[in-house]
Amino acid sequence: MAQMFSKSFYKSKEWEKVRQFVLMRDKYKCQKCGRPAQEVHHIIHLSPENVWDVSITLNPDNLVSLCRDDHFAEHKQDKAEGKKKYDKEKNSDCREGFHFDEFGQLVPD
Ligand SMILES: [Zn+2]
Ligand SMILES: [Zn+2]
Repeated sequence: MAQMFSKSFYKSKEWEKVRQFVLMRDKYKCQKCGRPAQEVHHIIHLSPENVWDVSITLNPDNLVSLCRDDHFAEHKQDKAEGKKKYDKEKNSDCREGFHFDEFGQLVPD
């Protein structure tokens, strides 16, 4: 499935570096609620089209530190929309759904 696209990205050294940078920049605080941030979120979500575009994937301006709850909420919204769409047009390829893997990284379903 196309959903494998971000797996290797989240394992890359470049991502780990920029992730640390963003967490430090945001002082390890969730930019929504101010609690400790564990996650770094892509404001423009990753997609198979942009996953190799470093001006999106590794651009600190496109990244924001979030706590797990708020990060989950960001993607849940997407998922809810995607599901609605999916229910409507069962056969069409709808938006990416995400879940957390064992490392706490968001990965596509
Ligand atoms: Zn939060
Ligand atoms: Zn995210």
